[in-house]
Amino acid sequence: MQPRKVHGSGVFMGAAPVWSKSILSSLSVLAGACLLGSLPVCAENTSLDPAIEARIDTLLPQLTLAEKISMVHADSKFTSAAVPRLGIPRRWLSDGPHGVREEVGPDTWNPAGRTDDFSTAMPAGIALAASWNPDLAQQEGTVIGDEARKRGKDIMLGPGVNILRTPLCGRNFEYLGEDPWLSSRMAVGYIQGVQSRQVASCVKHFAANNQEFERGSINVEMDERTLREIYLPAFKAAVQEAGVWSIMGAYNQFRGAHCCENDYLLNHILKDEWGFKGLVMSDWDGVHNTRGAVLGGMDLEMGTEKPYHEFYLADAYAAGVSNGTYSQALLDDKVRRNLRVMLATGAFGQRPEGSINTPQHQAIARKVAEEGLVLLKNTGDILPLDAAKIHSIAVIGDNATRLQTHGGQSSEIKAFYEITPLQGILNRVGKQATITFAQGYQKGGVRAQLTAQAIAAAKQAEVVIFVGGLNHDIGNDCESADRKNLQLPEGQAELIQQLVAVNPRTIVVLNGTMVEMSDWLGSVPALLQAWYGGMESGNAIARVLFGDVNPSGKLPCTFPKHLTDSPAHALNAYPGTNGTVTYAEGLLVGYRWFDTKAIEPLFPFGYGLSYTHFEYSDLKLIPGADGAVVAVEFTLANTGARAGAEVAQIYVHEAQSALPRPVHELKAFQKVSLNPGEQKKIHLPLARNAFAYYSPDQHGWVAEAGDFTIQVGASSRDIRLQDTFKLATTTLEK
Ligand code: BGC
Repeated sequence: MQPRKVHGSGVFMGAAPVWSKSILSSLSVLAGACLLGSLPVCAENTSLDPAIEARIDTLLPQLTLAEKISMVHADSKFTSAAVPRLGIPRRWLSDGPHGVREEVGPDTWNPAGRTDDFSTAMPAGIALAASWNPDLAQQEGTVIGDEARKRGKDIMLGPGVNILRTPLCGRNFEYLGEDPWLSSRMAVGYIQGVQSRQVASCVKHFAANNQEFERGSINVEMDERTLREIYLPAFKAAVQEAGVWSIMGAYNQFRGAHCCENDYLLNHILKDEWGFKGLVMSDWDGVHNTRGAVLGGMDLEMGTEKPYHEFYLADAYAAGVSNGTYSQALLDDKVRRNLRVMLATGAFGQRPEGSINTPQHQAIARKVAEEGLVLLKNTGDILPLDAAKIHSIAVIGDNATRLQTHGGQSSEIKAFYEITPLQGILNRVGKQATITFAQGYQKGGVRAQLTAQAIAAAKQAEVVIFVGGLNHDIGNDCESADRKNLQLPEGQAELIQQLVAVNPRTIVVLNGTMVEMSDWLGSVPALLQAWYGGMESGNAIARVLFGDVNPSGKLPCTFPKHLTDSPAHALNAYPGTNGTVTYAEGLLVGYRWFDTKAIEPLFPFGYGLSYTHFEYSDLKLIPGADGAVVAVEFTLANTGARAGAEVAQIYVHEAQSALPRPVHELKAFQKVSLNPGEQKKIHLPLARNAFAYYSPDQHGWVAEAGDFTIQVGASSRDIRLQDTFKLATTTLEK
């Protein structure tokens, strides 16, 4: 991968975020204006295309009230009605976010039983985030956009960008980790990829949907700074940098109002402040009230739980417009937003046909899976395994053969195929080594026989590869419920210890999101965090284990030693009481908590090993370079014997500030590929807002004059270089 000049605090300017091709040219001219901002405002991304607006001006007066109403609510699980009289086609939506979902219904959530609804299963959001590679996010988005086109979808329901607040959230696997800057960069890349194929992305779930427990009703309370600094940046970047065409309101309440009826979030922040011109849709059955939805900024009500004419934005809304309760102008605005997205994505005309499951799509699926794998431990360089020297391998664990892509609820994919870890290992070394498999553990039931078989297999093999972790069963990594604890389920922790006791060369590979590991981590030589790698997952794992690929993923979230070390749990601020959860930790989410409070994590944010070594040197802070406030320049060298990629991370610490701040915050990063012995000069510009915090009193971003330490490191806890920088003036940006 080539280093990209704009990864730092720069805006990812891949496929242009536009309402139509006609403003493409103006965008490229203006790109420089928003290139360097850490929280940039690119007003042109939220501007209108005159041709589209003129077309809507012609259509609107021709639509009857009933036809307008039909455009602001669903007419099946994933569609809204056509207006054939005026050539307005039916609109097709699909989940999201890891590929195009299998068809369901029409009247149930059960599979429709079709044979034309397979798609490429891409790695889950958390795996994508672990690649720290926005270019790859864009490629993943492009695959999904291509396949959506082929499957006839207009809007794809993703990416999910809710911040990982508690390790227990059942949907953490769909999201992009704990940091607003990392999740913003990845979301922008992904959306640009999807939308480059004339398919609308729908960024979700807006906002503060950070737990599944009581998700439909829980009321979230947090201070304004926390909202602005932690929970909104990825949405803001989606709107203002990627030009996302739609956004989904969340199930939960925020400050006492459901997010799908939330005037503050939808009207005030999203539409007025950020200038969002696309459509707001509800999460499925996330609207609870006609008045709330009409006045609270909702443009398209989706759901399933009652006849469609009984939707809040159906008959009841029509009656309210007829009797003057609601204005015609507000309905027109909602219809306009829906038509705008349809026109901008070419729904009325010729569109690219798209493609599905091409060799290129498969290659991208594998590449993302490979780059998302995080090597967490590798004592004595036991990895990579030398295929030429190994004659017997025991592959142990239920996850070695479990299909994962068709699980987790709305994000599940009916994959064309799925390479399990066992299959990947067989593909790689099955011809030259004896591979034995033992399931080792299972859900419920008696485990003694499985344990005995696993131990017997482990004793006989030169190397054990244990593949465990979580899966998409409810109560694991699955929508609609949170996990109950951070334990490895089904006795896996004991099993690992038993395996290591008989074979010290036991390598652990874990699917899923984070688990506690203190019982056994010290005794295993190697640990690979494999998340959910999509349909090429097994090949990716094998290629890393056997050294065809040098691991380059880094953790997008802090792994705590114990759940109670995590902020929301340490402060007893999860899952809430009497229907309200108050985010007592405020800004101190993830590493912001661990690093500020000096609590040692199991593995820090940004951490991940390589089969080679990287050295950082020659830090220079160049004031005022290239229009940035400061440019961070340093040399990164690969001093080992293998080609590899390092994610260099820039954290900013303010020495003294008017408001309390986390000890440091990620403000730039770049993934850099280097051959053995190679070195590169890395140049990452930081804009003024890389130094800013949100001031609730001043309603804007304040960068204070004073001293800042700029840290360059390989994780939040592995700072290799640092220097101070003096910001000369205080500024306020709205
Ligand atoms: C989920 C959304 C999803 C929708 C449609 C909801 O339950 O929260 O993320 O897009 O269903 O399947």
